[in-house]
Amino acid sequence: MNDAGWICGCCGPGRHRFGQPSRRGFMRAGLAAAGALGVAALPGRAFAQTALTPDAALQALMDGNKRYMQAKLESCSTDLSVLQQKTISKQEPFAAVLSCADSRVPVELIFDQSIGHLFVTRVAGNIATSEMIASLEYGAAVLGTSVILVLGHSGCGAVKAAMAGKPVPGQISELFAPLRPAVDEGKGNLEATIKDNAKIQAHVLATASPLLAGLIKDGKLKIAAGYYALGTGEVNLLS
Ligand SMILES: [Zn+2]
Repeated sequence: MNDAGWICGCCGPGRHRFGQPSRRGFMRAGLAAAGALGVAALPGRAFAQTALTPDAALQALMDGNKRYMQAKLESCSTDLSVLQQKTISKQEPFAAVLSCADSRVPVELIFDQSIGHLFVTRVAGNIATSEMIASLEYGAAVLGTSVILVLGHSGCGAVKAAMAGKPVPGQISELFAPLRPAVDEGKGNLEATIKDNAKIQAHVLATASPLLAGLIKDGKLKIAAGYYALGTGEVNLLS
């Protein structure tokens, strides 16, 4: 229990700053408790999300990040066991994210989403490799995600290493070639290179895959680039 006497349902005590539990909060807690007993279903927010337009899906992500910034997480108030049961046989994520593998970028958390909401692909440097493209094609064409957000982040170690260009152990240097165009454009500025890379990888996704390009042309998919600031938790869209 934190100093306000309130426990976050998914993160445990003391991890998020919640105010005094509101009446709405108590109602949510009641719903969750009822759900755990198999008595009641969750509110409709968690499902039928694939009907969202690309713009609405992107807005839903940004709204979730705003809640995260304000420490007003709603995903914590949903009952995980009910979500698990409802997603055993199907998934309907409304958005896909191509993120860096960095441990400081917990994708579901920073967009305040839970089980079944996001289709997340992760690789150091958030680069659009053929495997990432294949996965995101599956997310969009089969599962119906209507937005793909390529998410770079401040202090990205993969971008730093590509900029340094020094010998690295193992196969780490495999990451460098896809990062090279951004490194060249960024001219030694780390933040600019990270942002350029997110935009470049978004462009690669939108142009290298005829399947994704077709969905964009039909108005069923949007691909955007964003930048996550480790220090503030804020996601800003890049244009
Ligand atoms: Zn990174």
